[in-house]
Amino acid sequence: MIKKVLKFGGTSVGSIERIHHVAGIIKKEFDAGNQIIAVVSAMSGKTNELLELSKKISKDFNKRELDVLLSTGEQVSCALLSAALINLKLKAKSWLNWQIPILTEGEHTNARIINVNVSQIDEFLKFGVAIVPGFQGVSKSGDITTIGRGGSDATAVALAKLFNADTCEIYTDVDGVYSSDPNKIPVAKKIDKISFDEMLELSSLGAKVMQPSAVQTAKIYDIPLQVRSTFTNRIGTKIFEQDSIDYSKSVTGVAYSKDDAKITLVGVEDKPGVAANIFEPLNKAQVNVDMVIQNISSNMKKTDITFTIKRDDLKKTIDVLKVNKNIKYDSVIQNDLVAKISIVGAGMVSTPGVTYRMFKGLAEENINILAISTSEIKLSVIIDEENTLKAIKKLHNIFELD
Ligand code: ASP
Ligand code: MG
Repeated sequence: MIKKVLKFGGTSVGSIERIHHVAGIIKKEFDAGNQIIAVVSAMSGKTNELLELSKKISKDFNKRELDVLLSTGEQVSCALLSAALINLKLKAKSWLNWQIPILTEGEHTNARIINVNVSQIDEFLKFGVAIVPGFQGVSKSGDITTIGRGGSDATAVALAKLFNADTCEIYTDVDGVYSSDPNKIPVAKKIDKISFDEMLELSSLGAKVMQPSAVQTAKIYDIPLQVRSTFTNRIGTKIFEQDSIDYSKSVTGVAYSKDDAKITLVGVEDKPGVAANIFEPLNKAQVNVDMVIQNISSNMKKTDITFTIKRDDLKKTIDVLKVNKNIKYDSVIQNDLVAKISIVGAGMVSTPGVTYRMFKGLAEENINILAISTSEIKLSVIIDEENTLKAIKKLHNIFELD
């Protein structure tokens, strides 16, 4: 007998019709002799709607009450799905966070699951399907908590671990993980297998298929995941530990984000301590600096320093620079019409020439590289935002992803 955690995202339970459809998927799995724990998100848009309601009461809505409010979205979908299964003559039962309980620690709206009482549900699985809400928990003091937006993925992974499940399947509205966002990049292709590390890079770089912290937890506990579509029968994408994947390709995916901005300080004094004087106040102001490039000065007196930040932090960054009395420079250039394009692939480690091929390909398209950063399995460049599509297509072509 196989024990499965099946997680259904917001769009998968987004309407009554879809909930009936999900019930059908679960029934098939159950009839095949599997033990099923279904983790559900709120119906799509629900959590945002609840957030909007909270803002109408107060922009500074009490965090404990916000968790009570936000957790109701998952309560609704749990009950609807459970009742749909009961209508199909299955034994099904929903539990809320405090009934199980799903114990969390940490602050409201951003708690972490630390333990789950498995005994009642394990007993129930012998004859029925258990429906569990994603995204919510209960603190040691008995308060309802939530674990961060998109948190149902993390709930599913935590349950897979604590219930010692054989598989953890993430049902969503796409067929799996793609080399780029398939809705915007038509040449993007579905990836059959991907390592935890690659998936982490892709998801933190903007691929929205899975919540990065859930992938991180799956990696730590070595819980293989499968991302698949609720609406088609395709196999989806398997995410697991690196050793077991055959890397015939150096690059697995191309991620992009348009939420970066670039700043250049022109004519900065070239002497020890200058970089520290620039970035220390930014750090204090909680500006996250991503890439940094310092040109070599030709006269040993002045140089240019370029760095990238989140676009939302642009104004704050400029303000911090303006009041910084410890640095001298001639002028500041800011550019928020930039995009970050990253190639990700565990195969990059063992394939020489990936960097060169990326740069050459972009040059062939006449795309200027404004900044570069690298890590073991990732290479990112900043380019003008208008070239985003052209760059992603070219990279798909060069690395044979299309
Ligand atoms: N309903 C929650 C959200 O929208 C959790 C989830 O869907 O994973 O963030
Ligand atoms: Mg989600």
